Amino acid sequence: MLKTNNLGYPRIGALRELKKANEAYWAQKIGQQELLQAARTIREGNWKTQQEAGIDLIPSNDFSFYDQVLDLTLTVGAIPTRYQEFALEGSSSYNLDLYFAMARGFQQGGLDVTAMEMTKWFDTNYHYIVPEFVKDQQFRLTSEKVINEFNEAKELGILTKPVLLGPITYLLLGKEKEADFDRLDLVDRLLPVYEEILGKLSEAGAEWVQFDEPFLALDIDDKTRALYQKVYDRLSAAAKGIKLVVATYFESLRENSQTALSLPVQALHVDLVRGENQLDELLASVPANLILSVGVVDGRNIWKNDYEASLQKINQAVDALSADRVWVAPSSSLLHVPFDLDLEDNEQSLPAEVKNWLAFAKQKLAEVKDLAILASGDVDETTAAHFEANKVAQQSRRTSSLIHREDVKTRVRNITDADAQRTSSFTVRKGKQQEKFNLPAFATTTIGSFPQTRDVRKWRADLKKGAISQEEYDTFIAEETERTIRLQEELDIDVLVHGEFERNDMVEYFGEQLSGYAFTKNGWVQSYGSRCVKPPVIYGDVSRPADMTVRWSSYAQTLTNRPVKGMLTGPVTILQWSFVRNDQPRSATTYQIALAILDEVQALEKAGIKIIQIDEPAIREGLPLRKADHKAYLDWAVRAFRVSSSNVEDDTQIHTHMCYSEFNDIIEHIAAMDADVITIETSRSQMELLDAFADFNYPNDIGPGVYDIHSPRVPSKEEMVKLLEKAKAVIPAAQLWVNPDCGLKTRAWPETKAALEAMVEAAKTLRGVA
Ligand code: GLN
Ligand code: ZN
Repeated sequence: MLKTNNLGYPRIGALRELKKANEAYWAQKIGQQELLQAARTIREGNWKTQQEAGIDLIPSNDFSFYDQVLDLTLTVGAIPTRYQEFALEGSSSYNLDLYFAMARGFQQGGLDVTAMEMTKWFDTNYHYIVPEFVKDQQFRLTSEKVINEFNEAKELGILTKPVLLGPITYLLLGKEKEADFDRLDLVDRLLPVYEEILGKLSEAGAEWVQFDEPFLALDIDDKTRALYQKVYDRLSAAAKGIKLVVATYFESLRENSQTALSLPVQALHVDLVRGENQLDELLASVPANLILSVGVVDGRNIWKNDYEASLQKINQAVDALSADRVWVAPSSSLLHVPFDLDLEDNEQSLPAEVKNWLAFAKQKLAEVKDLAILASGDVDETTAAHFEANKVAQQSRRTSSLIHREDVKTRVRNITDADAQRTSSFTVRKGKQQEKFNLPAFATTTIGSFPQTRDVRKWRADLKKGAISQEEYDTFIAEETERTIRLQEELDIDVLVHGEFERNDMVEYFGEQLSGYAFTKNGWVQSYGSRCVKPPVIYGDVSRPADMTVRWSSYAQTLTNRPVKGMLTGPVTILQWSFVRNDQPRSATTYQIALAILDEVQALEKAGIKIIQIDEPAIREGLPLRKADHKAYLDWAVRAFRVSSSNVEDDTQIHTHMCYSEFNDIIEHIAAMDADVITIETSRSQMELLDAFADFNYPNDIGPGVYDIHSPRVPSKEEMVKLLEKAKAVIPAAQLWVNPDCGLKTRAWPETKAALEAMVEAAKTLRGVA
């Protein structure tokens, strides 16, 4: 029988119990004991679910109140000095208040400390808390969470495999807070803590420990590769009978294969979903005795596994290594998929046929077990039936008319270079657009949304519940839109927006109107801390059955003589923030979405909306993890944007918008998007992000954000004038627009009005008319 291995399980709870408990604790509605109990209940449930599913290597320490990287930071005592006030010694083992202060900042009773920085976990939508290191960083075992949770499971009769981030990945994930040192050089001081943990886990009776080292699947240098050998020599010497498994994921090992395979550990986990082609190469050089954990069940997406395809890989590994040296596993931790498909019962948003193609975390455990049984050859009746059902589901996906639309596929196949190219050069377009709109220098606009007040959200919720009629809802939206148009006229903004009051979310709103999309009720995935997202599911060929935004944009345009900008979300962003198909390349899905957006662009144009913004904030976050793959991605991503925006009149002005992006290494691709105007977030970097555009001699128009919309603070006119002067020093004035950093939906009305008033004054000052 092949063994089954799981790397990590979602910890937010089937119905987001941890989110609720955390938030109640932060609001001081429940005490520490209640929170700890809620956490214990989740852990116990997770372990039992995995035990019942027949998983042999069940992880522990994959639970976290907030983030597993922060857990390790506390474990090794890398606590930045600004948290010294939160006494460590003597209190409970978790020291929750210190922990949450590091995660979220703390402002109370005279104490005021900022949170640690947070950033994306590789190419997922999960965010981790970035460790901070100083030159003489000291480490010591400060929290015994990993040992406590192992013991907790043991008391329940479950012998788990504790999971820790490996020392090299941990250091690489952090940031140097002082100059003149390399954080990897801290490893000699860090290792004793790991050794101490291994000693304690050995005493507690652990058989296996998993070290996550995803950096082995990334671009690393020779020094780092050499360090891997050294670090694991030491850890294996300190293991005291414990066996070690090193886990890699999210990419293939490529040039790091030899390094990974020669580590002195007992097992290596590899991702055969993202790195589906690496098996041959690995099997050719797996050393004798090393166990290979083959990650065949996708930990990053929600599709049912294709048993036949997976079995081929597993069997290949078994043939090369023998059954006792192959473990069956998900490709990565299941943290990145929702909890349980059985909780979905809304036939309308998730039809039964589509549901039958999906698997969430709990279902993936069953798949892992099925595959292990099937590969062992000793197949019982139930498993044989599962295999048959799996074949039927795969077959239905290959042929279902819900998925496959010949007209859509043909249209994508027929995209020509001309479809991805505006008719005239930017210079010609700019002339014609100037003639048409006659906008002043330093033209002012906003990014799209205006405050989504509690009222707006309540009306939407009431509509969903059936508490108000569609007509009542529409009347409300119309009034809110009209008020917003009047306000922008009063403020003397040049290019207006309708305010996006009718939208719940910039991707969901479009997904709900496109065919090929499904939605879940409880498909939550942790994004950071207690925050979860519920990405829509693209299951089929995407098309646009009817106009999506024309109604509200043209209504707004009837109210005013100034141009109203149409607002769309771009194809790459729609892709990036959804669960996507795995039966065709991402690029193919993106082109389908691009054509649907193009249809909407042309419908807007026909309705007289001649300025259209296509938001692409997620272009950068879609970058592949390996540099060697960047260009291929950027080529199709940019082309898809161009397909969505090129087939328009010269005097139709296309805007795009991107926030929280660095542009340095991708500026030529941003320029290749050829939007007439790009608005970007720049205020928090004091316009520094503009340098990339300046150095590149970026030819089209740019609206560098002049104030930060993340804070209720109202900026003064003078501040914004200063920022614009800075912008003007590097970008010719004739190319500059004036706008906030991003949409205003999270702001309240008073600060919004005040800030925009000052913004328009600032623009006028630069024009020399105020
Ligand atoms: N048009 C969107 C808005 O204003 C853009 C949001 C975004 O860039 N994240 O809300
Ligand atoms: Zn934005």
